[in-house]
Amino acid sequence: MIAGVEKFDGIGMTSARTRARMVERLREQGIRDEAVLAAMNSVPRHIFVEEALAIRAYEDSPLPIGSGQTISQPYVVARMTELLRAGRPLHRVLEIGTGCGYQTAVLAMLADEVYTVERIASLVAKARRNLRALKLDNVRIKHGDGSTALGEDLSVDGILITAAAREVPSALLAHLNVGGRMVLPLAGRSDDDRSVQYLTVIEKTPDGVREHTYDAVRFVPLLPGLA
Ligand code: SAH
Repeated sequence: MIAGVEKFDGIGMTSARTRARMVERLREQGIRDEAVLAAMNSVPRHIFVEEALAIRAYEDSPLPIGSGQTISQPYVVARMTELLRAGRPLHRVLEIGTGCGYQTAVLAMLADEVYTVERIASLVAKARRNLRALKLDNVRIKHGDGSTALGEDLSVDGILITAAAREVPSALLAHLNVGGRMVLPLAGRSDDDRSVQYLTVIEKTPDGVREHTYDAVRFVPLLPGLA
């Protein structure tokens, strides 16, 4: 489902030009997937940040969203989404770490269904408000701990984790169809590398998982339990 800018008429129009410039920058930074660029061109990022920060919403920087958490910079959102899609259409996607719901909205433009899990109750409420304002009806938000299996029958063709893990949360792989991909920031494994995280793709194949490592990034940690 890839809608044009008109979908959010009246919400994002004032910043349509600023957003188009952000997309041009993403292109220059090496994002190649046109579907991802179109999705990011149509989601009004400024409604996801505090009003005082809205003017900075299209800069390539992370911004605070409350409860000590941050919305990722546009390049990282684009890169993770591009790695998740790997050029294929997505049917059902699981996101761990809803935050303010911006990455969720981008996924909702690209997948038939998005199931997203957030451990902080106040952010669940914030994301619900934001996603309702955009009338995205293919998203389900759950207040839960997404560092482990979800205790329900859910199978997806992509899992995107937006908080940094020390180890691959392998219990979640039970939800992933064969041929599907998990994308996450994963801490480096050698002693002098543990404070650095790398965008990592885990591919589920018929004979096990394959791991690929990409850009160095900085994310808030994936934490257990509810808040
Ligand atoms: N994608 C978000 C980025 C949020 S930052 C956005 O666009 O705004 C990462 C989020 O992961 C935080 O909101 C944090 O509370 C959440 N998180 C951390 N550990 C989690 C867990 N175990 N389960 C669910 N959410 C978690």
